[in-house]
Amino acid sequence: MIIAAVAVILLIVAGWLAMQRIRTLEAQLEKSDRERAQLVSQLEALHWQRIANLQMLEGLGEGLLAVNSDHRIIIANRRFLELFSIQPNVLGKPLSEVLRVSHIFDAFDRAIEGEESIEHFSVRTGVVDKKIEMRALPVASEGIAAAALFIDVTNTERLEKIRRNFISDFSHEVRTPLAGLRSAVETFETNAERLSTEEDQQLRRIMARQLRRLERLVEDLAELSRIEAGDVTLEFRSVDLRRMIDDLCEDFAEQAAQHRIRFSVDGQAVVCADPLRIQQAFSNLLDNAIKYGGDARDVEIAIADEPDAGVVRITDHGDGIPEGERSRIFRRFYRIDKSRSQEIPGSGLGLSITKHLILQHGGTIDVESAPGEGATFIVRLPKRSSNPAARAEGSR
Ligand code: ADP
Repeated sequence: MIIAAVAVILLIVAGWLAMQRIRTLEAQLEKSDRERAQLVSQLEALHWQRIANLQMLEGLGEGLLAVNSDHRIIIANRRFLELFSIQPNVLGKPLSEVLRVSHIFDAFDRAIEGEESIEHFSVRTGVVDKKIEMRALPVASEGIAAAALFIDVTNTERLEKIRRNFISDFSHEVRTPLAGLRSAVETFETNAERLSTEEDQQLRRIMARQLRRLERLVEDLAELSRIEAGDVTLEFRSVDLRRMIDDLCEDFAEQAAQHRIRFSVDGQAVVCADPLRIQQAFSNLLDNAIKYGGDARDVEIAIADEPDAGVVRITDHGDGIPEGERSRIFRRFYRIDKSRSQEIPGSGLGLSITKHLILQHGGTIDVESAPGEGATFIVRLPKRSSNPAARAEGSR
């Protein structure tokens, strides 16, 4: 009896203990389930963070390259591959197998040894030279020993060069009219009572002329720097070259009549161009044909309709342009024989502006000349523009 009672008690105790054990195990199971869910969500978050980091690296405007202590590539983002025209599968490869730029090797050597540095160098991809700024720095992280950012500074440097040239050209060119003005003003101040009416009027004419030169210089320079900096957006349309040239001849009729010059226009062609900008380019050429073409010598304009382009030849019969000067006349401020040109108003910027405008249209400008017999400026303008908006317009 007692034995049976003890057995029952033992059974109850064992059952209770088993229950306790089951409860503990269940609690542990629940806890590990919770921990597992937590780990899964942490893993998920890490996964998304990694994707976001990669996307951020890929979306960077700068090239990014990271290497380990053996100089093997660990990270190379899309911009880096673009900058150096490199195929995508570079991860794990030694740097020297992928690039041949000594500046990069040197900068990474220094960075691996713990030194930050900034390098400037040029790389040639295809036909273009790119100016690159490289900022390399050591990285204290597992697997990565050094990283570098690569910034394409070609455009910034070009704009900086334009700005520097602009300032030096401007101050140089502005000196002559300013000196003329100063000396006229000084003569007025010191000799005001002793000047004859004729001398007085002459001084006033000099001052008015130098002021006009200054004004023209400032206007042309502002226009040229806008065009050079790429601040001029072309609005492409179909342009009937014959109609535009006829209109320009009408605009210049009075100026031409003063020099007893007549225009003859022949041919026609339609091109894709910005009507105002292309008119501005031809206006400079007609203005020059009148200024340098010589009095009573007619100006001929021939328009040819070629399969891909409209070609305009403007011929005058003035002194022409010596061979050595033909490429120089398109440079800013260049005037042939400055002393002779002093008589003829101009800033020396017209052909520079014209050339830039024609190049922006994807066209070309050339000059032919037999010195003493005159000059022919030849402008070739494509019928279809490389600009997509213009292509749509041109196909209408
Ligand atoms: P600008 O006429 O204001 O001096 P341009 O840039 O238009 O400046 O021309 C630069 C120079 O090229 C002129 O000063 C002149 O010496 C020369 N030139 C331009 N057109 C002709 C031409 N049709 N015949 C002879 N010389 C020319």
